[in-house]
Amino acid sequence: VLVPGGPSDFGSLLLSAPVLAGLEAAGFHRPSPVQLKAIPLGRCGLDLIVQAKSGTGKTCVFSTIALDAVLLESPATQILILAPTREIAVQIHAVITTIGIKMEGLECHVFIGGTPLNQDKIRLKKCHIAVGSPGRIKQLIELDYLNTASIRLFILDEADKLLEEGSFQEQINWIYSSLPANKQVLAVSATYPESLANALTRYMREPTFVRLNPTDPSLVGLKQYYKIVNSHPLPHKTFEEKTQHLQELFSKIPFNQALVFSNLHSRAQHLAEILTSRGFPAECISGNMNQNQRLDAMAKLKQFHCRVLISTDLTSRGIDAEKVNLVVNLDVPLDWETYMHRIGRAGRFGTLGLSVTYCCRGEEENMMMKIAQKCNLQLLPLPESIPPGMM
Ligand code: ADP
Ligand code: MG
Repeated sequence: VLVPGGPSDFGSLLLSAPVLAGLEAAGFHRPSPVQLKAIPLGRCGLDLIVQAKSGTGKTCVFSTIALDAVLLESPATQILILAPTREIAVQIHAVITTIGIKMEGLECHVFIGGTPLNQDKIRLKKCHIAVGSPGRIKQLIELDYLNTASIRLFILDEADKLLEEGSFQEQINWIYSSLPANKQVLAVSATYPESLANALTRYMREPTFVRLNPTDPSLVGLKQYYKIVNSHPLPHKTFEEKTQHLQELFSKIPFNQALVFSNLHSRAQHLAEILTSRGFPAECISGNMNQNQRLDAMAKLKQFHCRVLISTDLTSRGIDAEKVNLVVNLDVPLDWETYMHRIGRAGRFGTLGLSVTYCCRGEEENMMMKIAQKCNLQLLPLPESIPPGMM
C-alpha cells in the first residue's frame, strides 16, 4: 500500500485534544498532503476552496475543521454541511461521528430526503453539526425545524456538483441567504471546472485556494484499461456482449470488490439480475430505488456483504468503500469529470486498483479517446491476463 502521508503527524496541527484523540482512534495517524495544508488554514477561519484528487482524505479535512470549531456548551446548530447525494451525506456523518468519538455530548445528525420529517424535528432540538442533501435541508429551514441563526461554518462537499448549472444551485442560494452574514465557507472537490470558480464568488469574498496537482488527475496506485467491443445495431446485443466480457473479467482477476457503472439505470438493474443468475451475486443501486433500498445497498458494500455493486452515476462521486479495487465502466461516461470520479472509487488513499472501460467501436471509442487526451490518461488496452501484484 502506497500511503501518501506527510512526514509529520496530526500533533503538529495544534488541534484540540479530543479531536486529536479521535483521529488517533480512527486510525488516522498521519495527515495526507491535502490535510496538512488545508486543516491549519481552515482553523484560522479562512474561506477555502480545496481541490485534491479522489481518495486523498478531503472528508477528514472539513470534518476536522468542523469538530475543532464546534462549541459543545451550546445546543445550537453551528455547522452545516451539504452533499449532492444522500449516500455521501450519510458517509460524512459517519466520518464525523468516528473522528468526534472523544467529544462528549457531540450531536451530529444527517438529514436526507426519503426519511421521516418527524424524526428530523426531534434530532434538531440538539444538533451541533447538521449534514444533509440540499432539498431536505432547505425544507427543514422553511419549516423552522432547523434554526440557522448560530451557523458559523458552511461546507459544500463535491462543490462543483452542488453548484453545477441546473442541479442544486437555486436551493443552495436559498439556503445560503438564510445563513448569518458572518460565517466561514469551505468548498471541496476533486474536479474544479471554470464554472465552479464563478459560482463560488457569490459565497466567498477572498477565498484561499488549496489545490494539489491540479493538472495531474491520475491516481498513483490505479491502472486504467479499456477494451473495444463490437458495436451491434441492436442495443441489447451490445449489452449482451459487454456482459459476457464483464463475466470473463470477474472470473479472471482476483478483485476484492467491484463497482460497475452503467449510464442507464434500467440497464444497471438488469445487469445485476443477469450476473446474479450466472453465479456472480451482484447488488444494484440507482436513483429510482427507494431510500431504504439505497442505504441498504451502500451498507452491504461497505460491510463487505456484497462483492459487486452495479450503479448509475448516483455513486460515481464521493463514495468511499476501502475494499473496492476494481471499477468497471460498462459504458463510457459522457464527460471527463464523471470518468475521473468513477475510477476514483478505486485506488483510494494510495491503494492499488484497476479500472476497465468497455467502449463500442466508433462513437464510444472516440469519446473515450477524447477523455484520455483531455485528462492526459495512461490508458492501456486490457491485456489477456493481469500481472500479479497489481491489485
Ligand atoms: P476524498 O473525499 O478525498 O475522495 P475520503 O475523505 O473519502 O477521500 O478518504 C478516502 C479514504 O482515506 C477513506 O477511507 C479514509 O478513511 C482514508 N483516510 C483519510 N485520511 C486518512 C489518514 N490521514 N490516514 C489514513 N487514512 C485516511
Ligand atoms: Mg469526498
